[in-house]
Amino acid sequence: RQRPDSLEAFWMPFTANRQFKAAPRLLVRAEGMYYHDVDDRPILDGAAGLWCCNAGHARPRIVQAIQEQAAQLDFAPPFQMGTPLPFVLAQRLAALAPASLNHVFFTNSGSEAVDSAMKIALGYHRLRGEGQRTRFIGREKAYHGVGFGGLSIGGLPNNRKAFGPLLAGSDFLRHTLDLSRNAFSPGLPRHGAELAEDLERLIALHDASTIAAVFVEPIAGSAGVILPAPGYLQRLREICDQHGILLVFDEVITGFGRVGNAFAAQRFGVTPDLLTMAKGLTNGAVPMGAVLVSDAIHSAYMQGPPGAIELFHGYTYSAHPLACAAALAALDTYAAEGLFDRAIELGEYWQTRLHSLRGLPNVIDIRNFGLIGAIELAARKDAPGSRGYEVFERCFRDGQLLVRCTGDVIALSPPLIIDTDQIDRIVDVLGEMIRATG
Ligand code: PMP
Repeated sequence: RQRPDSLEAFWMPFTANRQFKAAPRLLVRAEGMYYHDVDDRPILDGAAGLWCCNAGHARPRIVQAIQEQAAQLDFAPPFQMGTPLPFVLAQRLAALAPASLNHVFFTNSGSEAVDSAMKIALGYHRLRGEGQRTRFIGREKAYHGVGFGGLSIGGLPNNRKAFGPLLAGSDFLRHTLDLSRNAFSPGLPRHGAELAEDLERLIALHDASTIAAVFVEPIAGSAGVILPAPGYLQRLREICDQHGILLVFDEVITGFGRVGNAFAAQRFGVTPDLLTMAKGLTNGAVPMGAVLVSDAIHSAYMQGPPGAIELFHGYTYSAHPLACAAALAALDTYAAEGLFDRAIELGEYWQTRLHSLRGLPNVIDIRNFGLIGAIELAARKDAPGSRGYEVFERCFRDGQLLVRCTGDVIALSPPLIIDTDQIDRIVDVLGEMIRATG
């Protein structure tokens, strides 16, 4: 096998690849809870790849479904033609989702799902004669992908700053992130309703009738697994309803079992108008994203004056047969193995083990929910981010894959098939590497 050293110039060095050049890590095989690198070294997957592979890797049912689909029908043009697959998949997703979310638009990634949700929201308002609603509210530190839509409503300044001016009006509509950190830690600073006052203030300042939608990750993953304070999401729902603004949950990370339900919407008891997903939808096996759409939005589209507004949107690979087949098999695997429940069953063990790292040097916060978690480390004054990177790197060299978030946060998001020995191993190694990093 040709090593990449001789080929590196062929790969366009955007962000991830530049980091890769500094420390090449080549994964060539994966099965169950493990990756194997180019030297056949096993690497315990504490990240589900990148919050994707909730059932672990190379699951036979999913592999077989993809193989069979590829042999039977590899591609069909999605605009004037269809295949039976997306109808079946949409029905399955509607059954998993909160009651009013019954319609599905398919994309190829989380970024496309977010951009599509923005366009669906704009179209909805236009069809209802409220075309002045063109602005969006996102939250500080929010990650909604790298499309210009998701970037415009995203709140990670480093991701945005080189690509301005982005969407008009998207610069100033930023809702302060809930900083409650861990909904379960004692001494929670503020109640959720109080945190949601930021949104009310923003809406009051900027004319509610111009705002199309508010985007929220129920648990903000890339920001470092920030959990919603009790009552926070409920209050956002009330505020949006009061002003005719759509509420969108970006569940690209929280979807498909990680929080103990199909979606965080159910776990937190708040139903959005639109819900974006990707990653776990196919267990990471084939790229696919989707937007769940409420009955109300769907009927506005169905009843809108025909031809009055051209609402063109769609991708060549929307509802790609291989992705649909992979998604159906992933849903079967989740159901057959009761994996969503497993996130609850293991949740207490997970919490106890993660919190055993409290008191280690430089650990300033530990957050967990279902089978997601994060350790926040103190930043070095002269080099913010470097401590987190070092711990992440040491864990990887020792054979554990975790997720490095912005700043000095290490996130954990293992496949839901993880067992308690593997949880022990991940937490023990993480503790050791935090101690070793100093
Ligand atoms: N939204 C959220 C909440 C995400 O976490 C991500 C990816 N981590 C995205 C959107 C973008 O997804 P993708 O990388 O598939 O475009």
